[in-house]
Amino acid sequence: MKDYYKILGVDKNASDEDIKKAFRKLAHQHHPDKGGGDEAKFKEANEAYQVLSNKEKRAQYDRFGTADPFGSSAGGGPAGGWQNMNWEDPGSWAGAGFPGGVDMGDLGDIFDLFTGGGRGTRTVSHGSDLELLEEITLEDAFRGVTKPVTIATWIGCGVCKGEGGDPGAGTETCSVCGGQGQVREERRTFFGSFAQVKTCARCQGRGSLPKKPCENCKGKGRVQGERSTTLEILPGIQDGQLIQLKGFGEAGERGTQAGDLYVRVRVKPHAKFARQADDLVVRHELKVKDILLGKPVLVPTIEGGQAEFEVPAGFDLKQPYRIPGKGMPRFGSRPGRAGSRGDLLVDFIIKAPKKLAEKERKVLEEGD
Ligand SMILES: [Zn+2]
Ligand SMILES: [Zn+2]
Repeated sequence: MKDYYKILGVDKNASDEDIKKAFRKLAHQHHPDKGGGDEAKFKEANEAYQVLSNKEKRAQYDRFGTADPFGSSAGGGPAGGWQNMNWEDPGSWAGAGFPGGVDMGDLGDIFDLFTGGGRGTRTVSHGSDLELLEEITLEDAFRGVTKPVTIATWIGCGVCKGEGGDPGAGTETCSVCGGQGQVREERRTFFGSFAQVKTCARCQGRGSLPKKPCENCKGKGRVQGERSTTLEILPGIQDGQLIQLKGFGEAGERGTQAGDLYVRVRVKPHAKFARQADDLVVRHELKVKDILLGKPVLVPTIEGGQAEFEVPAGFDLKQPYRIPGKGMPRFGSRPGRAGSRGDLLVDFIIKAPKKLAEKERKVLEEGD
């Protein structure tokens, strides 16, 4: 796990201002467009900043140690919009100005420094992925369970339907693409120059732009709110398994792609059963007397009730006794089919008798 505080060189109680300052310093130092810049370090600092500068993400990071189900993998990280930008292609993140000038935020002056882009240029952020932790019991994991889930996140603005424009003010043709939604770009490379048709960054391919930003969402097309859904956890889910709910993460700005919600399922330890993949292990104390008498053994099962068996003659009691098909369901297998469940393993604990009664001793000695 990355220590975002360490990356920025601040301590855990750092204020927003400290974090911003630390990031700016590092960003200036490592910016890849600068001589002696270090793209990897710059991206790392940015990743840390994206999480620690966001109240929600920082709280989640402090709590779970992650704000990103994929760690530092490129693409679907917490930085969302930022990572969707292409370093080699300033056109993908500059020039998407919004009429009325939506403030670009803290990063504005850093962009200005290296790109020459003016204030008011900004990118449209796609929705970030979110991660949530859901704790269930082993019984829930056995039977499967549905859980209501509510998350506080960005949701589409109801006033402008996520478009970002004041619905009463109407739209106007995009001046960059002339309403085409696409722009042609000449690119010169080592192999010659060629033309590329790209989605217009200013209007996001719509061809038109709202005349006035929506007041409810300040033109973002999304507002802070709550999203609820029902999470279906299938039988046999493993501890730590991730369930992906497509499109249930943050809403994107101005109707762009929403992030996904990842629910990490934590299966709580059980008082009686230990889990080994799809097998369950139960410990059972055997009395020497019962072994000698061949008394049937009763052990609890995960579905409730008990399983009964006799220890076979000559069985090596140091080995677990295996009861087939009484373990956990195999995730994704159809119930009732052969092999659709793991086994129940009985670990024997053999206790020497404290004291042998006189009668018992006699019987044993005679049997010798
Ligand atoms: Zn709106
Ligand atoms: Zn356009």
